[in-house]
Amino acid sequence: MCRHLGYLGPAVPVSEPITRGPHSLRVQSWAPREMRGGGTINADGFGVAWWPAQAPGDTDALDAQDVEPTRYRNAAPIWTDPAVDDVLSQIEATAVLGAVRSATVGMPVERTACAPFTSGRLAFSHNGVVPDWRAVCAAVSKEVGGVDPFELEASTDSAALWLLVRALLERGADPSEALTEVVRRVVAERSEARANLLLGDGEQLWATTCYHSLSVLVDDTSAVVSSEPYDDDPRWQPIDDRSVVTVRPGHVAIESL
Ligand code: GLN
Repeated sequence: MCRHLGYLGPAVPVSEPITRGPHSLRVQSWAPREMRGGGTINADGFGVAWWPAQAPGDTDALDAQDVEPTRYRNAAPIWTDPAVDDVLSQIEATAVLGAVRSATVGMPVERTACAPFTSGRLAFSHNGVVPDWRAVCAAVSKEVGGVDPFELEASTDSAALWLLVRALLERGADPSEALTEVVRRVVAERSEARANLLLGDGEQLWATTCYHSLSVLVDDTSAVVSSEPYDDDPRWQPIDDRSVVTVRPGHVAIESL
């Protein structure tokens, strides 16, 4: 259910990482291979966040630390939206985080429910479902703070998980710790919860596996995290369930959740 992808590396058109390969994220929206536990297609919208490429020598360029992502989302299926090929192909980025959505039954199909969710330098996506998410996230927020129903961007488990992650980050957790702690606490409340989380800041990507599939492809100049490999490159590395992974070009670190 839902598929997501993060890219870091040389500047590329924003559309490129999400349409790359014979089994791209866009293809996974109608023909996913590794959907587990329900959903069949990811037709309930999509979203892309990107960190703009800065021209070398540009005296107005921001420090990498200050580059915030721009975002485009649509509640329609990704394959129906000409903006992907016509507009997103015209913008260059050095980091991209994209998601295609299969709405969980009972959750709204609307643009605000489409990942990525963003704040400051960060973009976030959730692949999975938290049964009884209101009660579960309220219980976890009693311990870590964070979920104010008035701040929820959409009435979904994913939007609530994002507020929990942000609460932990604001309390000083590093991104990998924040994702780990949210997944652990949510699963402690509801063992059937499924929570593949993906977070990026334009320079690194962090992701968890909790029930759903995930693979990484990293070389010296680029790093990709994807629910499913988009091609048959033998360097794709499948990530075991219950892991948290940190990647950037030339670096992969995997720990157990
Ligand atoms: N439960 C989330 C939503 O409805 C994510 C769905 C999914 O992973 N299929 O948006």
